[in-house]
Amino acid sequence: MYVCPVCNGLETREQTCQVCSHQMYDRGRVVDYFDDYSPYWEDEDAKLVDGVLESKENHICLHVYHCLACDSEARISIQEQRR
Ligand SMILES: [Zn+2]
Ligand SMILES: [Zn+2]
Repeated sequence: MYVCPVCNGLETREQTCQVCSHQMYDRGRVVDYFDDYSPYWEDEDAKLVDGVLESKENHICLHVYHCLACDSEARISIQEQRR
């Protein structure tokens, strides 16, 4: 099976903010992070945002990173590892 090393605490992925170059922090998977909002979405929007189907096939875990300095967010693809 494939697991995301970041979700499972095996690895900390460091990400630098593209706006202000500060360290960004992992806020978890995109699908978890946006869960509260998903019932309000149209199908079309949901596909655009998380691409869950595609990411599952490619063994990619999509994470949201947040910059505390300038409050910007980035979506980072984490390659899942085979265990
Ligand atoms: Zn993950
Ligand atoms: Zn920033």
